[in-house]
Amino acid sequence: MSELKEISFSRIQVFRNCRRKYYYRYVLNKEAKIPQFPLSFGKIVHQALYEYHLGNKDILNCIEKAKNDFLNAYPDYNLERVDYEIGLILGVLSAYLEIFPSFDYIEPEKEIRLSLNGIEIVGRIDGLIQEGNKWWILEHKTIGSTSVIDFQKRLQLDDQPTLYMYALRGYDVCGVLYNLIRRPRFVKYLQENYKQFAERIKEKILRDPSMYFSRFKIYRTLRGIKEFEKELRYLIHTIRECHKHPDRLEVFYKNPYYCSSYLECEYRPLCVFGISDRLLEMLYKDREEEK
Ligand code: SF4
Repeated sequence: MSELKEISFSRIQVFRNCRRKYYYRYVLNKEAKIPQFPLSFGKIVHQALYEYHLGNKDILNCIEKAKNDFLNAYPDYNLERVDYEIGLILGVLSAYLEIFPSFDYIEPEKEIRLSLNGIEIVGRIDGLIQEGNKWWILEHKTIGSTSVIDFQKRLQLDDQPTLYMYALRGYDVCGVLYNLIRRPRFVKYLQENYKQFAERIKEKILRDPSMYFSRFKIYRTLRGIKEFEKELRYLIHTIRECHKHPDRLEVFYKNPYYCSSYLECEYRPLCVFGISDRLLEMLYKDREEEK
C-alpha cells in the first residue's frame, strides 16, 4: 500500500469514529450506489448556499444548479424524491434568506491545508465571515429531528470546530459560527406543483422560524487547541502505521454508537451481513476521488 502523503479532515474523523467504516471507505474504496434519501437535502442546501454566497442571488437557479450536480454524482438516485426535495429546499431557503439575508463579508467554501508530521491535511470550510473586525468560521449544518440543545452539547466535545480553529489560527478567528437548518416534514399535495409547495412551506416556516433555523457560536481555548494538536499528531501517526501494516487494517473494529450519527451509515449492510462479493456488487461502487 502506497505511503499516505495527503489526508482529508473527513478521513481523519472517520478513522477516529469508526475504524470499520474507515476500512470500507478508504481501504476497500467503496461507497453506496444509492445513498439514503435525506442526503439530497443536506448536499443541495450546501451547494445552493455556496452558489448564493458566490453572488448568484437567484436562489431557485442556485438550487437547480445544485440539484444537477447532485444527480451527476448520484445518477441512480430516485428522481421523484429529488423533485419533492427541491420544493422543500426552495421553501426552506426562501424563508431562511428572508430572515438572514447575508453576512458582512463572506469568503465561501474555503480550502484549508496544513502540514503536520510530514503529511498534508486538507479540508474545506463553508466560509469565513467577518463581523466588525472579527473573523468567524462559518459552518452550515442541516439537521433532522435532533434537538438544537443536543447538537450544541455534541459540538462542545466535537473535534471538527477545534480542527478548523487549529488550521486557521493564522487568521486569528474567534470561533465557529454554526448555522443550523432543520429539514421540515411537510406533505406535498397532489394538486400542488413544487413552487406552490415551496410557497406554502415558506409561509409556515416564517410563522415560527426558530423551529427551523438556529445560529450559535462555538469557541475553543488556546489550551484546548494545543491539546488537540497532540491528539492530531498521534492520530496521523496511528493511521500511517496501520497503512504500513495492512494486516492491522483488516481487523478494524466496529463502533455501533456511530452508526446513526447524523445519517444512517451507508456500510450497515456490510457490518450486519458480512462482506461478500455479491453485496459489494449489488450495493456499492468504487468511490470517486474526494473533492
Ligand atoms: S454500520 Fe456502524 S459499525 Fe458499521 S461501519 Fe458503519 S458506523 Fe461503523
